[in-house]
Amino acid sequence: MNRSILTIDYTETTKDLLDPLDAELLDKAARAADGAYAPYSRFLVGAALRLENGQVICGNNQENASFPAGICAERTAVFYAHANFPETQIRAIAITASPCGICRQVLLESEKRAGVPIRVLLAAGDKVRIFQSVKDLLPFGFDSF
Ligand SMILES: [Zn+2]
Repeated sequence: MNRSILTIDYTETTKDLLDPLDAELLDKAARAADGAYAPYSRFLVGAALRLENGQVICGNNQENASFPAGICAERTAVFYAHANFPETQIRAIAITASPCGICRQVLLESEKRAGVPIRVLLAAGDKVRIFQSVKDLLPFGFDSF
């Protein structure tokens, strides 16, 4: 039997200290939240991801009276990116909330699919947490052995 201690690598900062590209991505995520359809939870979430070619794709949560049919902001953006740019790597994503487990798995698989880390920025108020890889958000995802 082996005991292990897991270390999570992230940086905590504030919005005013972000570099311009990160600040732009987070700003677009915040603006995307304004377009969310969340009449049930009233929890508006936005996401914005940057592809390797610099293009930014935004998403927001879309709820439905049939609850399982709804989708989170980050999955809206990620699936749009994969559907329309299947060969293009996602390099970074900014989200205005902490992702759920399903979204963490989707982001992890996107990272594996691309073969390069996805930089993740999570915002809460003025605070921002920056992860250099989705692996730090979900160290034991499916297929982690
Ligand atoms: Zn989610």
